[in-house]
Amino acid sequence: MLTFMNNETENNADQQQTRVISLFSLVGMSMTFMMGFISLFNSNHELTITLFFASMIYCFAYISLKKYHTLKLSSYITIYSLYLLMFYLVFTGGVEQTGPLWIFIVAPVSVYILGLTSGLINLAFFLTVIAIIIFLPTDSIPHVTYSMEFKLRLILSFLTTTFLSALYEYLRMISFKSALELSKKYQQLALSDPLTKLANRRNALTILQQEKSRTSRNDDPLSILLCDLDHFKMVNDKYGHNCGDMVLTELAQVFTKSVRQQDCVARWGGEEFLFILPQTSAEQAFVIAEKIRINVQRHSVYCHEQDISLTMSIGISQLTDNQTIDEMINNADRYLYQAKKNGRNQVYPQ
Ligand code: GH3
Ligand code: MG
Ligand code: MG
Repeated sequence: MLTFMNNETENNADQQQTRVISLFSLVGMSMTFMMGFISLFNSNHELTITLFFASMIYCFAYISLKKYHTLKLSSYITIYSLYLLMFYLVFTGGVEQTGPLWIFIVAPVSVYILGLTSGLINLAFFLTVIAIIIFLPTDSIPHVTYSMEFKLRLILSFLTTTFLSALYEYLRMISFKSALELSKKYQQLALSDPLTKLANRRNALTILQQEKSRTSRNDDPLSILLCDLDHFKMVNDKYGHNCGDMVLTELAQVFTKSVRQQDCVARWGGEEFLFILPQTSAEQAFVIAEKIRINVQRHSVYCHEQDISLTMSIGISQLTDNQTIDEMINNADRYLYQAKKNGRNQVYPQ
């Protein structure tokens, strides 16, 4: 159940990432297309071709993400085509040397898409290339020149944006992690019994429904055990309610140790417990029930300097064709009553 919850949370994070990447590639596609159109009117053909080409790449990233769910590939295409476009804009200066203004979007986008560590490593690489481009001697490769003040301020302001983006991403990660832990904790609380930490009644009913569907699909037997501690009221009366609680907690551990990995133990009510035994016939369930009954009988709980021992009665029910969960539980309840009537500390039917 917990694995299922974790997978759910991971799926949600992936869905959110997919939405952001598709939005980003969509925005990238529209922006580069619009700017390409503007530079077409300004007769800047080289820039026009570059921008239309970038727009096509974003379009490809968007379509492959939507159609083939290529989250990683689309993320890399989006981020590295952005880097290439920025290198080009800084190298050529763009329209009236405004090209370098665009590099500030790189920092937040990198840390968000690539994560904090990988984002910072990529940003270090990006800034190195930008520094090489702007400090490149113009006589070696002809390109646009910027004043020394502009170059230094460009690098310093980029470093500031990087720092703020990293800080923001770090805080976002921390609050995301604590929200995730909180939601897991509350989900767990909603599914388990606070005293014994076993599955609660609601959770048991959900698991029973799932097992019933699986049983009918695979044609496997499914059995349950409904158990009630014998004369438990006397334990409370004689040793106090706290000792009663301690008995319930310790017996919950005895139950968990007595069953297989695929079985489920739930606290059905006050001192009633329900065991869900998948792929188990009534005959096999009887063997398990006897084992549990004997383990309870042998176990003693030490409380207030006294050893408390008690016994348990168990009703078995195997799911039959066309039977509902309620009918199966009622059946087990009737058998439990029969076990009590026959003298307690026994399993019914035998
Ligand atoms: P029997 O089932 O054998 O007929 O006798 P019993 O004494 O166990 O009968 P009954 O089911 O009527 O009583 C159950 C008792 O369990 C009553 C209630 O005080 C106690 N109980 C239920 N929940 C808790 C709990 O969470 N903690 C403690 N300490 N006692 C509980
Ligand atoms: Mg009872
Ligand atoms: Mg009882």
